Amino acid sequence: MKNIILSIAGFLISLGLFSQQPDWETYYEKSNFKETPRYNETIRYCKQLADNSPYINYTTFGVSPQGRKLPLLIVNKNGQFNSEEVKKSGQAVIMIQACIHPGESEGKDAGLMLLRDIAINKKYYKLLDNLTILFIPIFNVDGHERWSKYNRINQNGPEEMGWRVTAQNLNLNRDYVKADALEMQSWLNVFHEWLPNFFIDCHTTDGADYQYVITYKMETGDNMDNNLAKWQKKKFIPAMEKNMFSKGFPVFPYVEFRNWHDPRSGLELLNATPMISQGYTALQNRPGLLIETHMLKPYKQRVDGTYELLKFSLGFVNNDAKNLIALTNEADEYASSASFRKKKFAVKYKLSQTDSTLVDFLGVDYSIVKSDLTGGDWFKYSSDPKTFKVALFDKSLPIEKVTLPEAYLIPPEWTDVIKRLKYQHVEMKVLDKEKTLIVESYKFSNPKWQEHPYEGRHRLKIDYEIISEERTYPAGTVIVTMNQRNARLIAYMLEPMANNSLLSWGFFDSVFEQKEYGESYVMEVKAREMLAKDPELRKEFEKKKAEDPNFTKRAWTMLNWFYSKTPYWDTRINKYPIGKVKSLKQ
Ligand SMILES: [Zn+2]
Repeated sequence: MKNIILSIAGFLISLGLFSQQPDWETYYEKSNFKETPRYNETIRYCKQLADNSPYINYTTFGVSPQGRKLPLLIVNKNGQFNSEEVKKSGQAVIMIQACIHPGESEGKDAGLMLLRDIAINKKYYKLLDNLTILFIPIFNVDGHERWSKYNRINQNGPEEMGWRVTAQNLNLNRDYVKADALEMQSWLNVFHEWLPNFFIDCHTTDGADYQYVITYKMETGDNMDNNLAKWQKKKFIPAMEKNMFSKGFPVFPYVEFRNWHDPRSGLELLNATPMISQGYTALQNRPGLLIETHMLKPYKQRVDGTYELLKFSLGFVNNDAKNLIALTNEADEYASSASFRKKKFAVKYKLSQTDSTLVDFLGVDYSIVKSDLTGGDWFKYSSDPKTFKVALFDKSLPIEKVTLPEAYLIPPEWTDVIKRLKYQHVEMKVLDKEKTLIVESYKFSNPKWQEHPYEGRHRLKIDYEIISEERTYPAGTVIVTMNQRNARLIAYMLEPMANNSLLSWGFFDSVFEQKEYGESYVMEVKAREMLAKDPELRKEFEKKKAEDPNFTKRAWTMLNWFYSKTPYWDTRINKYPIGKVKSLKQ
């Protein structure tokens, strides 16, 4: 009897095991390509992949402010999931990221299918020959669970989706430099641990209508290492365009129209700023591919296009792994070299309004009618495809160039700045005792803060002059030497006029505040004494009164002007506390 029970139990268990054979159809496929899975289902499928393949590891790289784990799949044919081991083995590393904007979920659905087809079905197993894949199916996990049918009014599916920004209302794709979000701080750890040789960020557009299912952006200008820019421009992009065309997905760069919604006005393509993903990876000496599917196309078509482009990119990097590893290593070495610092370095660009080329743009016909509702232009797109011959403005001109120092000196009290540099894995040393030395730095004028917040901050614009002066830096001062691979990013963070500098994000706002004053009854007397003693000062005073209409509006302004000419004036106000040195050996 006991035996019979045992054998029945065994039979049931085996039946149970049999019925637990994983179902490999994804949630998206089961929904007839209409729906995308929630966070829990996505994690479940990721774990199922990892549990059933020795080539896939499921791990997490941090926790969101609402307590969700940030998922990461690592795919390696040797079962090596440690960054050191993988790098030693000579494999290239590619990082694919989805749902930084959770409503834009194609990368998640395409990526899960692709990893299954690589590691479980072994359809594309060869892609792992020289390649390790890092896949983040959902980056903005909290935003992903703000789930609704009504999150993206312009978008043609999936039926429900997540929300664009984090629970703190921050856009992670504006946070790469300042790293305010916990999610970004965690991401930076993964990125800098692995330093992937190639990076892909999956999105869906907003904006105009046109024929392309997929548009893309890569940094091929001088905001990126020259050899890597060439590799993208001459090798990757032509092959990618050809492949995508042959698969029925002609692609075009992710452009903006010179006039909103109006392709006839011309197309614009500017170097990306480092607050967004591919602009950031450019400064990290890593090619970054931004995929933007077109939101008006059916969801399935967008996922299919993303799948093709991911598969192509994996194949290309796998085939060219050795070369790409060499190029990224050389770019790192060059960025840390003295010859890199010899040239002036561009930290801000604007688009040339004269350099353009004529291109064919696969648009749709449209008419512009005067809206009787708003009085504005109403762009009415038809369903008729139309090829426009239009001007593409794609040349970025540097508008701010800086001399790179041997080192930046950051006084220890700027703790938040030092913390941000640490998030970016910047190498630093600390002064063990006070040091007096001549530094180059900046004096600011006309600070203007944005009235409305942007990413939770009031961005700042300044005018500046370069100054050179003797300063004493206390013990504990942080020394950031530029002989490191991160040099490009360091310059963008610490040069005040740089696009997305920490100063521009408001990290140094307090240096603009006057904290000591001369009382008016004191300055009325003092100013008279000063004028009596110094005829030159009188001339200067008269000139100032004649030339600056704001100067005479308030008695306080005039008296404070006299105060600024006394030795009591704050010598640090409006000055950048960070110093630049050509040599630390002074
Ligand atoms: Zn997006």
